[in-house]
Amino acid sequence: MFFKTALHMNNIFDNVNNIYGGNNMDNNKSIKCDVESCKYNNASDKYCTLNEIKVSATCSGCNAKKKQTICDSFKENK
Ligand code: SF4
Repeated sequence: MFFKTALHMNNIFDNVNNIYGGNNMDNNKSIKCDVESCKYNNASDKYCTLNEIKVSATCSGCNAKKKQTICDSFKENK
């Protein structure tokens, strides 16, 4: 039981880590992105190196337009 719970918690942490920018999956080119200032961007092939990302609206409860969407997984390239 303890082992099963620990395994489950590990999966949850992995998923959170993926979404908020932890794990890179260099072979997954399905997320196309041109934001070269992001540390997860592969500028030469124009894709995101993360396995998955989270996108949000900048306003809550609004009918968001394209300009009001942001990638929450963005991390500034320093
Ligand atoms: S985390 Fe977001 S902004 Fe950064 S490369 Fe991926 S999709 Fe683009």
